[in-house]
Amino acid sequence: MPRSQPASLLGHLRFWVRARALALPGLTLLMAACTSVPLPPWTPTAVRQPSSARIGPETSAKVVPPVVQVFPVASPATIGAPPVAPADQPTPYSAAVAARFPAPSVVYSTPGLQAGRAAFTTQAEIRAWLRDQVTAAARSAGITAAVLSIGESQRGEPLETLILTSATSTDPATLLAAGKPTVLLVAQQHGNEPAGSEALLVIASELAQGLLRPMLQSINVLIVPRANPDGAASNQRATAGGLDMSHDHLLLDTPEAQALARLTRDYQPTVVVDAHEYAVAGRFLQKFGGLQKFDARLEYATAANLPEFLTKAAEEWYRRPLLAALKAQGLSTEWYYTTSVDLADKIVSMGGARPDTSRNVNGLKNAVSLLIESRGADIGRQHIQRRVHTLVTAVTSVLSNTAQRAGDLAQLRPYIEKEVSAEACRGQAVVDAALTPAQHELVMLDPVTGADKSIMVDWDSALVLEPLKARARPCGYWLSAGSTKAADRLRLLGVKVLRVVEPGSLLGDSYHETSRATEPHQDARGANADAHVSLMRGVLDAPRGSFYVPLNQPLGNLAFAALEPDTQDSYFANQILGSLQSTVRVMAEPNISFEELP
Ligand SMILES: [Zn+2]
Repeated sequence: MPRSQPASLLGHLRFWVRARALALPGLTLLMAACTSVPLPPWTPTAVRQPSSARIGPETSAKVVPPVVQVFPVASPATIGAPPVAPADQPTPYSAAVAARFPAPSVVYSTPGLQAGRAAFTTQAEIRAWLRDQVTAAARSAGITAAVLSIGESQRGEPLETLILTSATSTDPATLLAAGKPTVLLVAQQHGNEPAGSEALLVIASELAQGLLRPMLQSINVLIVPRANPDGAASNQRATAGGLDMSHDHLLLDTPEAQALARLTRDYQPTVVVDAHEYAVAGRFLQKFGGLQKFDARLEYATAANLPEFLTKAAEEWYRRPLLAALKAQGLSTEWYYTTSVDLADKIVSMGGARPDTSRNVNGLKNAVSLLIESRGADIGRQHIQRRVHTLVTAVTSVLSNTAQRAGDLAQLRPYIEKEVSAEACRGQAVVDAALTPAQHELVMLDPVTGADKSIMVDWDSALVLEPLKARARPCGYWLSAGSTKAADRLRLLGVKVLRVVEPGSLLGDSYHETSRATEPHQDARGANADAHVSLMRGVLDAPRGSFYVPLNQPLGNLAFAALEPDTQDSYFANQILGSLQSTVRVMAEPNISFEELP
């Protein structure tokens, strides 16, 4: 088993850059380009622009507004109405800026991208589109496709996923037994970011009946084109009840995040893509006087305690080829970045280390987890073909790399799971980590001339984390018998939870609150988010019916993130666990009788 050793895995990771012979002729075009060679031009089977209408000096004028354009403030949309073009605030957008973003040489033709259309694809149209792909896939042998119901939104809209595989059935057991990597593609967790949804409809069609179909010999694909249909219907970022599901992947308070958690628990995707869009003007224009330039902003999981090789695979097997694929299409890229609402704060920050987003939570589930944002949440339908093209190109790269590295990924995943499990009872784990300060040259656009405007910014980097608080990693956590809500949420995440069947004693550390921070956390949801604790060693009598969450399991780091109480995102901070006394860090392997919860 030479590849179970870290040294040879490292060598293996370096090794992949060499070109490989491909067993599947249909894949040659797409796959030959995965690493150093850029992807060939994307040629979807959707409507292609006639050659006479391709982008050139004479046609680019058609997409460039002749005068300085200001997008109007959108009138409030009625609930249940088709999604409208988003425009949260007037965006100054000159013809010179627009000219920097010519349309791609292909035209995508989802329902929402039809010429003359004002609304993006409606929920009913998405449902019909997914079913059309099932019908199309059934026309030829070798592909199984189905639309699976995964839940309901807060307003009762069906949440659905399209599954495509070359296995004979779409149930999780069949797919897991076949051993091929599964890719989960999710778009529009934020309802007012439409390009991801349109792009995943294109990808669905290309997999079911187009150029990407041969990839299904190597991978399974799950597509959730619109994770937040209520938000999309009212053109708002959050879910219907006001919670931002994008930060709900550990707590699982929303049915929308629960649906994705259930899907992930059952199908155990090797790779997860979370597609978003970002605002071009907004706070950056106010702070730096520039419009944002990059067609795509990308970041993989950067939570604390992630296995090193997972990050390495995300960087080398996914991000670098992704950059090459986008570049080959003339699309620009940068790390994902954001800035605070405080106009005096000029720090620009990469996506953080908190275990709340799909990006970080799926990393803690040992998946290669990628956030991909296209440019344009605040510019209505401007550049929509280019925005969709950016996401289609990026997702194609991810699918292609997964297909090509299926064998490598099949080795990486069990290695990582074993490594995480083996860490129980050992060493230190990071409870809270900060990004590290750096300088970064960030290119923006002059809002009038459209010229590049390079700015040196204070940049908080997520590529190196500074541990703020670390603790001995316990063997597991005891939870009181009343902690059923926490036990249920952990199980929904895929964490193994045991129940005490015969009372026994455990050696452990209990938590005691020492103080509360006077300055509340920014955007903290939980009432207990500011508690500071100390630990006290003792022997606990664990009664029948109480719970035990062992850390010697593949999702041990995820359980740690949920159960150490003194963080902003913990189950205690957010009152999923009622009190500090309901959790004990178990510091020696327990010798009592458990049953595993189903
Ligand atoms: Zn978003």
